[in-house]
Amino acid sequence: MKMSDFIAKRGVWSNEILTREAFFRFFRRPIVAVDALFLSQTEYWPLSNLRDLQWSRIQEVVTAARQIPFWKEWLSRSDLKKRLPSSWTDFELIPIVSKADLKEQPVKNIFSGRDILHRSFADRTSGSTGEPFLFYVDRNYVLRSFSFCRRIFRWAGWRHGDIIVRLGGRDRRGFALDYHYLPTDTPADMERSFNNLVRLGESYNIVLFSLASILLRFTQVVKESKKTLNVKSVIYSGEALLDHERALLSSVFKARLFNCYAGRETGWLAQECEMGGLHINPEWAFLEIVDDKGKSLPIGRNGKLIATLFDNKVMPLIRYDTGDRGRFVVGKCQCRRTLPLIEFDGRSADIIYFPEGHSMSFIESTYIFERFANSIAAFRVIQESLKDLIIEIVLYSSDDFDAHDFLRHAATYFRSEIHLEIRYRDRIDYAGEKRKVFLSYL
Ligand SMILES: [Zn+2]
Repeated sequence: MKMSDFIAKRGVWSNEILTREAFFRFFRRPIVAVDALFLSQTEYWPLSNLRDLQWSRIQEVVTAARQIPFWKEWLSRSDLKKRLPSSWTDFELIPIVSKADLKEQPVKNIFSGRDILHRSFADRTSGSTGEPFLFYVDRNYVLRSFSFCRRIFRWAGWRHGDIIVRLGGRDRRGFALDYHYLPTDTPADMERSFNNLVRLGESYNIVLFSLASILLRFTQVVKESKKTLNVKSVIYSGEALLDHERALLSSVFKARLFNCYAGRETGWLAQECEMGGLHINPEWAFLEIVDDKGKSLPIGRNGKLIATLFDNKVMPLIRYDTGDRGRFVVGKCQCRRTLPLIEFDGRSADIIYFPEGHSMSFIESTYIFERFANSIAAFRVIQESLKDLIIEIVLYSSDDFDAHDFLRHAATYFRSEIHLEIRYRDRIDYAGEKRKVFLSYL
């Protein structure tokens, strides 16, 4: 039997023995190194092999979930109480589970037994959606997560001897095995972190990782200083960047930018390759795009993004609604990797609804702001009601902004009689670490 077939059938990565304290502490480095090496091979596997691997992992995760009260009941709704799914169609009969379904459960209903729980780590979602969510990940999940970080870094140009620097409001466990953390909470933190970054760059090539909004704020410090950074590439996550923001970051850091799509509770779902393709990680999760009724959609069609995670036995997520929308992309990437390509539209909450009945993803609507990028420094859109859209704008200078022209363009683009109101601001304060550019009160 070929090694690749063996791995595909056995799913050897998910090894319970790793969850023992001693193994976790002393062997995690070689384990992550071997896992990362496998991942550098599987990204060229034929899709059918990846599909086989996913199928064996799905069987495992469903088996684990059946030990947990909530899932026992949930799986029985699709006739999977006593048996495992026998086909992909069978698997797709499992009802989609939302964050709200899990949140309303008592804690003990969605976690596996105490012995696994005490070897696990607690984390919570940031609540940028207005609903913080406590969840647990086990050690196997954390180790695998490190291996996927390696893939992300490698694609972004990280090589042995380079270092990873994470800029952020707070540090978090499970990000990567080896990295430097530099805080960015206050302007003083930013200043200090910038100087540390310059110093680190004197000895190492740096791959920088942060949220898009933090990177945008950090550009001010970089621009004001005469010192130069030695940044090889910048990986951003958390929010989508507009084209001109991407160009700004790339020119300020003098580095290539790489997008990375991750959810706090779902881990590393996709990352950008050297050729600009956003590839999913089929060895980490099974992703589906479904319509509003939960039916799978073909490649190219836009819908809800549903994830089944393979490596978290303590709190499995099966057919979990990520709250994001996107589509699989037709065709192959020039990088020759076989991992499927995807495009994201952002949170499903980020949808503008119009009185005429149609809707538009907020990200899509930002095209209008890009047209006026020379005069608009920052903006935020607030949907107060179905008939009223407030557009907060910070201008570089009021001289070269034609509000009538802007409103005319917006109305044409929205194809709607919705009432648009511009409110000029000196600055826009975003609540929390994550930049929320669209607020909807519908
Ligand atoms: Zn690619």
